[in-house]
Amino acid sequence: MFTGEEVALVTGASRGIGKAVALDLASYGVKVMVHYHSKEEEALQVADQIERAGGTAKIFQANVADEAAVQRMCREIKKEYGRLDILVNNAGITKDGFVTMMSAAKWQDVIDTNLKGTFFCTREALKIMHRQKRGAIINVASTSGVVGQPGQLNYSASKGGLIAFTKGLAREVAPQGIRANVVAPGFTETDMTRQMEPDVLKKYLEMVPLGRIGKPEEIAYMVSFLASSKAAYITGKVFIVDGGLVTV
Ligand code: NAP
Repeated sequence: MFTGEEVALVTGASRGIGKAVALDLASYGVKVMVHYHSKEEEALQVADQIERAGGTAKIFQANVADEAAVQRMCREIKKEYGRLDILVNNAGITKDGFVTMMSAAKWQDVIDTNLKGTFFCTREALKIMHRQKRGAIINVASTSGVVGQPGQLNYSASKGGLIAFTKGLAREVAPQGIRANVVAPGFTETDMTRQMEPDVLKKYLEMVPLGRIGKPEEIAYMVSFLASSKAAYITGKVFIVDGGLVTV
């Protein structure tokens, strides 16, 4: 599934889904670059947990929407490890509001972090992957990007854009032996859903056929599979992990 030589960059790995992805990849012997934005202590704890289990991890700080910061991070990874085999574009934010009330700033922040950030990280990672003639990119979208979600059109647009970006990317980089896929989680137990009104979340969860919220690890298992050699013939696809909520 993994050779034990792979180096992975997981963005937004300080907590939530990214943390679960970092820990799961590390459990297969993948060296994990634990990226964070503001929560250094949490990122250090993730790296420490990986190293105490016998793995290799290092933390990297960057605002993914900052081109120069992303370039610096990828240069450091290349300098230190000389390779990058797996990129998980997971960092993401919500800034919800109904469209008539949405400020330009809320719109832009979400597009910049979720979509432009993914573009920057992907472009810099590809500079390393191209020379290796191999690589796997997994972009974490959302069911909101598949079906659209009232009250978060900025987020839905960013995640829908991410899906189209990944489909195009998969075709563009396939000749270089690089694969790109999307994992689209439904409601997952992280800080992102903890900030929702409990009554609203409860209402949504009642619509989930499996009858509960997802665990971050349940998203991570799909990401690790797509990053692995077991998914060698899969590219340009969207995998929804949502307890059966969305039917497409
Ligand atoms: P979370 O717990 O809120 O964590 C967000 C992560 O993104 C943190 O590691 C944070 O870093 C990082 N981040 C935020 N803004 C950033 C920026 N400008 N630059 C770099 N990193 C930044 O979120 P989560 O629920 O785990 O979500 C992870 C991904 O899954 C997101 O893309 C989200 O859209 C997607 N998703 C989540 C759900 C859900 O129900 N939770 C559902 C569908 C899709 P710091 O900790 O350092 O601030």
